[in-house]
Amino acid sequence: MTSKQEQSPDATAVPDTVDSYVGGEWVSVDSDEGQPVVNPATNETLADVPFATAEDVDEAVQTASEAFEEWSRTPPVERVQYIFDLKQELEARQEDIAQALTREHGKTLNEARGEIRRGIENVEVAAGIPNMMREGSGNVQDVAKGMDEHAIRQPLGVFTAVTPFNFPAMIPLWFLPYAVATGNTFVLKPSEKVPLSSQLIFEAVDAVDFPDGVVNLVNGGVDTVTALLEHDDIEGISFVGSTPVAQHIYQTAAEHGKRVQAQGGAKNYAVVSEDAELEEAVPNVIGSVYGNAGQRCLANDVVVGVGDSYEPLREEVLDAVDDLTVGNGLDEDTDVGPLITGESAERVKGMIEDAIDEGADLVVDGRDFEHPDYPDGNFLGPTLLEGVTTDMDITQTEIFGPVMALTKADDIDEAIEMVNSTQYGNASSLYTENGAEARKYRYEVDAGNIGINVGVCAPMGFFHFGGRKDSFFGDLHAQGEDAINFYTDKTITIERYYSH
Ligand code: NAD
Repeated sequence: MTSKQEQSPDATAVPDTVDSYVGGEWVSVDSDEGQPVVNPATNETLADVPFATAEDVDEAVQTASEAFEEWSRTPPVERVQYIFDLKQELEARQEDIAQALTREHGKTLNEARGEIRRGIENVEVAAGIPNMMREGSGNVQDVAKGMDEHAIRQPLGVFTAVTPFNFPAMIPLWFLPYAVATGNTFVLKPSEKVPLSSQLIFEAVDAVDFPDGVVNLVNGGVDTVTALLEHDDIEGISFVGSTPVAQHIYQTAAEHGKRVQAQGGAKNYAVVSEDAELEEAVPNVIGSVYGNAGQRCLANDVVVGVGDSYEPLREEVLDAVDDLTVGNGLDEDTDVGPLITGESAERVKGMIEDAIDEGADLVVDGRDFEHPDYPDGNFLGPTLLEGVTTDMDITQTEIFGPVMALTKADDIDEAIEMVNSTQYGNASSLYTENGAEARKYRYEVDAGNIGINVGVCAPMGFFHFGGRKDSFFGDLHAQGEDAINFYTDKTITIERYYSH
């Protein structure tokens, strides 16, 4: 096994045990419940993840709670020294994390490397917390005669984050660095499908030597999350995952009096205007749909060609789809990796079949794809459906697989109507060189993230990241200034002295 204490310099080192990290120690969990962690390209078991029980969760939360008082009183300039160290420790391990991430998730190594970079970007932003905590605080002298008023930010206690399978390294880092740098203590619960990346992230945490109990990790499934959600000493919860679970988390956390930010699923459209630079647009469109095997909350899986753009768009997209290589993410020439589970591949195939039944034309069929070297992998070849309409399920439900639904609109107004037809509002992209059209799109599209000639519009760490409609429940989003507001409260002090 790969010892967590002895970080291997071998970049293919993948943990084969999944432990909790509580109070500055690795803790092996003895539980009746658990599941294997499986490489989706081969279906080989990499490790087993035992699920933390309510008692295990209670221990982690109590430990974090005990650490809070001293940590919250540690000056922010001292707290961020740990954050600077965390950046370095993560960077030293980024290739190891990428290797583990590709093995447990299936995405390509380049996608894994890019993901870790985006995660570390949030660590870098959180290193500016002393400055960021000045935002929204401040003071006014002489609010009345002889009276001054001050607002200061204060951390609140123990926060938790429950994260999804599709970005195992980046999404935990949307929360951990901000929660801790603002003076809170933290418990992470990563997806049980992909816990290995977090094991390596916590090797970095362990190397930083945060004070015991400041940063903790538990693994598990629904019952583990319930124990966190209902725990009296949890002040707030950040969630990222599917919409039904996000709704449940939002309601339950609110019932238990906790702060909550819950990011849900998506259904994103791309619109290609007659004024688009097609040569630039097509690789972006393809990357957005088929990158990460379509398992991305920002994937634009419905593509709308406006007016005369449709035929050339269709032709170029078909050529580009033909060039995609499906395979194991560890192989350098792979563009599209496997889906996370066999059930997931079956679900996506079912959606393709339903779309055909509803009248869509199947132009490229990836359903029977089999990889000669990886016959057991959960592969699905790139698929393209044409002639879809907004009354079909394929245009309204998140696909989360390498499938494009292509359609046409007469003009930009009709295209925007299509974009806004879904219950979701996570993201949308427009391809155009026409500024007025882009401005109209920004005004009229009801989505939290809009890309103009950008297919995956993932905000940088110093901007907030969140959607609208059924893609988000709460008010303060992840990252940037919203994170500071989520993890702190503002106390007002009004003071008067009679002797002055
Ligand atoms: P999921 O909802 O199945 O699981 C997410 C997390 O919730 C996991 O940690 C899981 O253990 C936990 N969980 C699952 N069911 C639960 C329940 N009944 N009660 C309590 N906890 C539960 O999501 P997933 O399949 O891991 O991730 C894919 C989804 O996440 C997609 O819908 C995708 O769009 C969404 N997502 C959204 C964003 C965003 O920014 N909006 C980002 C990434 C992923």
